[in-house]
Amino acid sequence: MPPKFNMRPDKNPMPSQAPDVRNKNFKEVALGYTEEMAVDEAKRCLNCKNKPCVNGCPVNIHIPEFISKVAEGDFEGAYEIISLSSSLPAVCGRVCPQETQCEGKCTRGIKGEPVAIGRLERFVADWHNAHVSATPKMPETNGHKVAIIGSGPAGLTCAGDLAKMGYDVTIYEALHLAGGVLVYGIPEFRLPKAIVQKEIDNLKALGVKIETNMVIGRVLTVEELKEAYGYEAIFIGSGAGLPMFMNIPGENLKGVYSANEFLTRSNLMKAYLPDSATPIQKSRNVAVVGGGNVAMDAARTAKRLGAENVYIVYRRGMEELPARREEVEHAEEEGIIFRTLCNPVEILPAAVSDPRDPKYGTVAGMKCVRMELGEPDASGRRRPIEIPDSAFDMEVDCVIMSLGTSPNPLLKKTTPGLETKRRGEIVADEDGLTSIEGVYAGGDAVTGAATVILAMGAGKKAAAAMDKYIRSKNI
Ligand code: FAD
Ligand code: SF4
Repeated sequence: MPPKFNMRPDKNPMPSQAPDVRNKNFKEVALGYTEEMAVDEAKRCLNCKNKPCVNGCPVNIHIPEFISKVAEGDFEGAYEIISLSSSLPAVCGRVCPQETQCEGKCTRGIKGEPVAIGRLERFVADWHNAHVSATPKMPETNGHKVAIIGSGPAGLTCAGDLAKMGYDVTIYEALHLAGGVLVYGIPEFRLPKAIVQKEIDNLKALGVKIETNMVIGRVLTVEELKEAYGYEAIFIGSGAGLPMFMNIPGENLKGVYSANEFLTRSNLMKAYLPDSATPIQKSRNVAVVGGGNVAMDAARTAKRLGAENVYIVYRRGMEELPARREEVEHAEEEGIIFRTLCNPVEILPAAVSDPRDPKYGTVAGMKCVRMELGEPDASGRRRPIEIPDSAFDMEVDCVIMSLGTSPNPLLKKTTPGLETKRRGEIVADEDGLTSIEGVYAGGDAVTGAATVILAMGAGKKAAAAMDKYIRSKNI
């Protein structure tokens, strides 16, 4: 009789494009498990009684239950179980930091590698999308109107849950395409946009209306949505899209981008296609300043756009890089060069004085200083300290600043009574209720830059609270 569990210590590896092939194209890097690999991997799950993996998942997906279904070859059954807790499994299976969530808690990780929960989630969602074409049925209407500001994972999840309850839901999105960071930030090679579009099409099938090119706070205010348009509750899921800069000399030169702008040009505007109407600088030597996931995405995008040398410039060491380990490894495999313990102090202009010269006002280099690590700071990471007389120049023609983002202050400025914190995060309680009655918020707009799954979880909680609020008012 074959053993019940597969006790192999390692995960089934993920089939992927070879590094020297993929660093020249924008197609998805990871290719996904076959059915055989998925069943084999699912058999590594011990179906633990105490389910530590479920506690590690921010939306508490019934992990062992869905994995058992995969092991039995019932992939649609597995999909139905995941769908009870997650509305974007094809997205989360690809981009969630499983190593610090479900997989970080997996019993199999104690003596070997954890079960590849993320890869199995992705497999199940992709299998469903490839084999089951049913579009969701339009729910019966309950006659109540709600508005959602922003169409990222928080807004999409909130909209989906409310639409399923029968609400008349309208999403107002500032950009010309819905999806938030999933379409403008995370590159195609990590998250194909067709997957996001399918989720948005499903929402439309549920009756959700999406009004694009609608910057709330400019075209309409939150107050107008409530008073003039008659929305009984509003959810703000406007994200944290305002980039930070270092405020060093030379940051206004041509060839200096925020990571958000650089990635938006490439992902949303498809600037990598030869016939795109949006330009993007094709550079030889690119420095990406920062060490998070966004920095890795920007560096890998710059490489794919044809740069010979792409540097990650980070003031702490490799150990302290905040990006996911998998993203750092992918970047290294693709030829990204890590210049750690290094901090920029000035971006240097080309030595050209004639304004008619195309090189006038462009980037020619970056002055940096070397750093060493001192005692841990408030974040718990060792504080970087400048080494005296260590300045040196790097030859670069493009600098991409990836230092973090904060919520855009527009909604705060145009919504009287909306309380925010010091860096613009909207103040909201556990259920997402803000300082204004009937106005809820969640996702990066409340937490500052975080993760897709946390934004989804916040959208879900707020949808339940909005429903309760509207029902209580209508008794
Ligand atoms: P967003 O996704 O930012 O969506 C907000 C939406 O609101 C946007 O579409 C915006 O245009 C719109 N909006 C803003 N203001 C207004 C307004 N006034 N009126 C109307 N609409 C408005 N997380 C992970 O879990 N894994 C990853 O691998 C990962 N990689 C990332 C890579 C990049 C490059 C970036 C930038 C982020 C990444 N994140 C990742 C973080 C994750 O994408 C975010 O935490 C998540 O998208 C937040 O969701 P949200 O719905 O709160 O906001
Ligand atoms: Fe399976 Fe790991 Fe969860 Fe245990 S902790 S049920 S082995 S996925």
